[in-house]
Order: sequence, then structure tokens, then C-alpha cells
Amino acid sequence: MKKVLVMGAGQLARMMALAGAPLNIQVLAYDVNTNTVVHPVTQQKFALTLAEAVADADVVSSEFEHIPYPVQDVCEASGKFFPNSTAIKAGGDRRQEKQLLDAAGVANAGYRIVSTEAEFHAAIAALGLPLVLKSALAGYDGKGQWRLKHHEDAAAIWADIESFMQGANHALPQAIVAEQFVRFDREVSLVGARNAKGDTVVYPLTENHHVNGVLAVSLALPGRQELQQQAKQMFDAVAAKLDYVGVLALEFFQVGDKLLVNEIAPRVHNSGHWTQQGSDTCQFENHLRAVCGLPLGSTALVRPTLMVNILGEDYVDPAVLALPSCHLHWYGKGKRAGRKMGHINLSGETVAELAERFVVLSKLLPAQSFPEVADMAVKLAKSV
Ligand code: ATP
Ligand code: MG
Repeated sequence: MKKVLVMGAGQLARMMALAGAPLNIQVLAYDVNTNTVVHPVTQQKFALTLAEAVADADVVSSEFEHIPYPVQDVCEASGKFFPNSTAIKAGGDRRQEKQLLDAAGVANAGYRIVSTEAEFHAAIAALGLPLVLKSALAGYDGKGQWRLKHHEDAAAIWADIESFMQGANHALPQAIVAEQFVRFDREVSLVGARNAKGDTVVYPLTENHHVNGVLAVSLALPGRQELQQQAKQMFDAVAAKLDYVGVLALEFFQVGDKLLVNEIAPRVHNSGHWTQQGSDTCQFENHLRAVCGLPLGSTALVRPTLMVNILGEDYVDPAVLALPSCHLHWYGKGKRAGRKMGHINLSGETVAELAERFVVLSKLLPAQSFPEVADMAVKLAKSV
């Protein structure tokens, strides 16, 4: 049996634990908010300090990028932290992330780092409008972001950014990444795994639909090979630069036939949850295989599959389970507005069959909790 200690005790650690059990991999989680070691499925607490838990584990890993640096230092010093702390920090700080993308030679939106009002105006002059302004630290699910469309709004937005930066309580200096607004055709992501030898496997590109800045639906359909290859090259370049071990996700903007990297996530990713039912090996299992030095599993798409996030809702009509190839994954979390509570995976043998089932599924999901999902189902059905 192998023991993996995961930094972070949320749904991603939970799904790793569920995927690891058949391989005799035991996953424990370190909750960085409460500084406790817990079982990620039962939430049972263990009387272990971080140092004890790290010493006891064969491998230390992570389910998110916002891990306090002192905690990362303990993990890194163990010599068994995968992915490494450089990769986690690049995912948690947009300044380091942008430098990484440039160093790896992968296309990304034009940007400037902004800490002062003068730099803010210099960024507007250099990049033009519209701009997306993102806090360098602690950004997720569209939080800590501003859109600047018109010059007359600049003063008000700067005032807001300044108070945000002053209010921030970080051990590190906060800053803003000012980014050119990309008029993308769609958003896609690539989830893949790299092992210690440098072998990589990637899943098919996933199309992502956000509602109010949060991922709502991911679609994994058979796609175009040129685009997949372009994404794979960028994945390999970024993963090699980081000497990455584990599952890594790249989010892209697609503009015509070209991909620009939006951001990276040094972990299993929400847009890869469909792999639980749509791929030979799910992303959680492949992450554990990679960090434990086991052979990587096939990432083949076995059937068209999509995922619908359940946000801020702890009830779904059980009738959804009567749909063929429909699976519910709850995270066992308390209900809170907007919170990621679970997801639904739906598959079909063909895209047409999946689309048909999606229309039926969407009628069982109330529009106030699942905004725009019904429209997405109709759109997919019309596209086939
Ligand atoms: P998440 O954690 O959900 O991935 P996040 O807070 O880390 O989100 P981003 O992924 O950078 O933030 O941005 C959230 C969304 O805002 C993107 O998925 C995209 O829809 C939009 N967005 C971000 N940057 C740009 C840009 N430069 N041009 C156009 N749209 C953008
Ligand atoms: Mg994102």
C-alpha cells in the first residue's frame, strides 16, 4: 500500500481518495485552513502534525495552488512533493504564471504587471482597451477581476483595485496582471499527466462554458486533431519547463484555429471531471499513478461525455439517474450560495445520443440553479 498526503481537503482530494482505493493507494488530506489531517472522504480527523503526516507519507501532493508558502516549504523539503513547489507557485501567482508561459514559449494574452497607478495608466496606453485586470494572488472562479472597457471608467476601477490590494492580507506583495481582452471563439482546456521520466499523456480537449465567471458545463467530444496537437505541444512545453509530475491542466482561449493559454492549474481540474465516465482512466487515478511512479493509464475518450456542475444546490431530482449513462457525484459539502457541491456526468455512444440525453437532463434541472444549461443542451442538439 502507498500513502499519499494531499494538501487541501476538498472535493478534489476526495475524488483522488475514491480513485486510489482500488490501487491500494491511501489518500489523506491536510486542510490548510484548520491545519488538520483528515480523511478526505469521511472527514475523520487524525492527530498528526503536518511534519508527522509528511514523514509518514510515501508521496506528498496537492489539490490546489493557494497553499501557504511555509507549508509548501515543509512539503518540498521532504523530497517527495509532486508536483513541485515551483509548479504550485506558478499556479497560485499570476506573475509567475505569465513568466512561465513566456519562458515555455507558449502564446498567451498580452499583459503588464501593475502595482502603482502610473503602471496602471502605462498598461492602458501599451495594451489598449478593453482590459481584464486580475489580482496576482488568490484568484479563482473569476474572483479578484475587473473589466475596463472605457477610459472614463479607469479612475473608478483603479480606486477599487487599490482598496482591494490594501485590504489583502497576504504574506507576499499583491499586484495586478493587466491583460488584453481576448475576443475568443470558445474556451477549451487540456488536462494531462506527466510522470517523473517525462512521459506525457493528455485527454481530449474539453470545451468549457462559464456562467458568471464560474465553470458550468464541460463537453468532451471527438475533436479536431490539429487543435489537439497544438494543445499537446503547449502542454508538453509547460510541463517540461516545470519538470512537472502529476496531472496538470491548461485553460485556453481559442481564436480561429489558434490557441492562447489563459491559465494553468497545477492539479486535477474541474474541466476533467468528465473523465470519470468518459475516459479509460479518470484524471484522479492518472494523477495518483503519476505521483506514485506507476505506469500512466490510457486517456482515450471512450464515449462522448459532458459534465454539469452543481453550484449552491444540495438537491437534484433523482430522476436524472433514470437517464442512461448519467452519474451523480456529490462532494458531501454544506450548502452555500454558488459553492461547488457536486457534478453530473452524462455520456452517449454518439454525440447525437449525448445531445438528446442532455436535452432531457436539462429539463430536470431548474433554470434558477442551472442558468443557461437548457440553452446549451438545445445548442448541442442543433449542432449535430
Ligand atoms: P477559474 O478559477 O474558474 O479558472 P479564475 O478566477 O482563475 O477562474 P480566469 O480563468 O483567468 O480566472 O478567468 C475567468 C474567466 O474570465 C475566463 O474563463 C474567461 O471567460 C474570462 N477571461 C479571463 N481573462 C480573459 C481575457 N484576457 N480576455 C477575455 N476573457 C477573459
Ligand atoms: Mg480559469
